[in-house]
Amino acid sequence: MFAGETEFLKGVVAMNGLPEATRPEVCFAGRSNVGKSSLINALTGRKGLARASNTPGRTQEINYFTVGESHFLVDLPGYGFANAPLAVVEKWQRLLKSYLRGRATLRRAFVLVDARHGIKAVDEEIMALLSSAAVTFQCVLTKTDKLKKGDLDRVLAQVREKLSKHPAAYPELVLTSSEKGDGIETLRAIIAGID
Ligand code: GDP
Repeated sequence: MFAGETEFLKGVVAMNGLPEATRPEVCFAGRSNVGKSSLINALTGRKGLARASNTPGRTQEINYFTVGESHFLVDLPGYGFANAPLAVVEKWQRLLKSYLRGRATLRRAFVLVDARHGIKAVDEEIMALLSSAAVTFQCVLTKTDKLKKGDLDRVLAQVREKLSKHPAAYPELVLTSSEKGDGIETLRAIIAGID
């Protein structure tokens, strides 16, 4: 359902810009540099699709992609910019909250976490926000190719421990490497199964 069928639909800066809620949708959230563009590109098999919308100036937009006829795939702006102006951060948080609370067709959020770093405070913030908006979320570890197995196991234990405290979190993690292609088919199948 993915390859060659994914198109950029639009970048949204306000709730009234959201496309009509005609399909189930999933969104992707994560700290900037977590590997979100790479993952979306790997998922869709379209190099440059997410990156093209990730250029400065578009980073505060909620970017919509269509997947075939079936789903919307939603790329949320990366969070955790250390030097973003407060006004920009606050505007984006307002839009994010409205989106998460108000989008009836949002079925699941994927929270991307760098496998080297585990869950950080900014990730906890987004998870708390998702929980308060009653959006179920699933944690996707990125860049797993960068770790040795022992180190990965340690991070997995930390991630599982933290997720166990969030009622809105799926216990199953998805382990991915956009570089090697690991976990990509699994994630596609998860999304395809969401209706
Ligand atoms: P974004 O800011 O979350 O969209 O992150 P990008 O997708 O732009 O990735 C940030 C950096 O991590 C880039 O240098 C990527 O090449 C690198 N990266 C992303 N995914 C992987 C991966 O699976 N493995 C490795 N080794 N590097 C990755």
